[in-house]
Amino acid sequence: MLEKAVKVLNQIIFTLLLYIQIQHHIIVYLLGSLLGKHLARNINDEPVNKPYRKLQIDQMPIIERIEKLDYKKLLLDYSLKYGKDLKPVKPRKGSKNRVPNTVNCPSCGAPHNYLYDNTGGRGQYKCKVCSAVFNLKNHFSKSAILRCPHCLKVLEKIKERKDFFIYKCKNDACSFYQGNLSSMSKEDKKKFKENPHEFKVRYIYREFNFDFKPLSKKSPVLPKVDLAKIYSSPHTLGLILTFYVNYGISARKTACLMRDVFDVNISHQTVLNYADAVASFVKPFTDNYQYDLSNSFCGDETYIRVNGKWHYIFFFFDAIKKIIVASRVSPNRDTISAIKALDDVLSKLPKIPDDLSFVVDGNPIYILAQHYFAQHGINFDINQVIGLTNEDPVSKELRPLKQIIERLNRTFKGNYRSTHGFQSDDGSVAFVALFTAYFNFLRPHSALEKRVPVVVPELTHLPHMPARWCKLIELSQDYLQQLSA
Ligand SMILES: [Zn+2]
Ligand SMILES: [Zn+2]
Repeated sequence: MLEKAVKVLNQIIFTLLLYIQIQHHIIVYLLGSLLGKHLARNINDEPVNKPYRKLQIDQMPIIERIEKLDYKKLLLDYSLKYGKDLKPVKPRKGSKNRVPNTVNCPSCGAPHNYLYDNTGGRGQYKCKVCSAVFNLKNHFSKSAILRCPHCLKVLEKIKERKDFFIYKCKNDACSFYQGNLSSMSKEDKKKFKENPHEFKVRYIYREFNFDFKPLSKKSPVLPKVDLAKIYSSPHTLGLILTFYVNYGISARKTACLMRDVFDVNISHQTVLNYADAVASFVKPFTDNYQYDLSNSFCGDETYIRVNGKWHYIFFFFDAIKKIIVASRVSPNRDTISAIKALDDVLSKLPKIPDDLSFVVDGNPIYILAQHYFAQHGINFDINQVIGLTNEDPVSKELRPLKQIIERLNRTFKGNYRSTHGFQSDDGSVAFVALFTAYFNFLRPHSALEKRVPVVVPELTHLPHMPARWCKLIELSQDYLQQLSA
């Protein structure tokens, strides 16, 4: 009898729980439709392993630099041989198609007045000194020849996109092409005959040519705000930063804490304003600090919400010294963002080491970025580990790196979770900058025997965290003052 009653009771409880769950879903749904998706969104909602675009990247082509001719030497040779000077091109009477004076010969450097306009203003020129024919679009390929690494045939440019050109090896006897054909299944071979464009069987190379100079000196962005406008005492500011950044407490709760515990009346917006203001000082200091770095870095993309959309943070991290070297926020997970993040790391190295290596996930953008730097004479290894940030098995050798990245991601997410995302790009950049400063200068790291990754002597003997934040702000201000002096 009793057993039966318990059973019935259990059933009732189960049914009630189910009701509660359904009601919860209805409430979340109604909240969502009433107030916009934002508020009802689960705080832990994140794009778990958002897939990146799969793209097969072939190895680098063989770049053959063409030996440059010198038009001055060629002109001298001419006059020695013929006993007279080679005259510049005489502009034809009434012809408007003069060669612009910004154009010179890509193979011998002859200035515009030695160039013929070959096609009546349609952009093809011929050099009177060395006889090279060229147009402005193939200026680069005239200074270098790209060859297929498999068959050594010269690659053909087949497409011009906004940021890159696509080159292809069209040699039917190419070992790469033949190898791909012969490894096809019978079924694929049939499909290939019908729709050859659906298959990538030939060697392809993308030459990036966007307006970006690797390793160029970037001047730090100077803060627009005045820290003197912060109406709290330095210690209060230090407390606010400690709660908001170190402990990852939301701006709203930080404001409550300050009110309830310390009797300081501030709004959550003030917390955000302070964070933005401090970040604009601390970021140049953190970005340009003379870190003592190793030659081994790992990189990973993580997510951050800006204006309700997912953005990406490209973190690069010194695997040995545990220092965050790049933390770039970008709306896109694309090659140019990967290039800029890698450039952030490279420009922090006093000299590019011979054995420089990066461990990243399987995203092809890193290989494209590596090719881009190689194009500019900057070489390093990229080791891709599929499953660096998910459950896939990784080799024993790379497991420690996987753990390092997971730990960094966990730490960041722990601090970011309470923020509900950001209203603007600037807000997200500010938060990431504060997190980076905290991680490098203030946070003891378990793998470093509880030392902070970057020991700044001025910070070590201070009694508590608020004092360290204040000192860090002071050091950042000193750094900026030095720059403008
Ligand atoms: Zn020439
Ligand atoms: Zn080939």
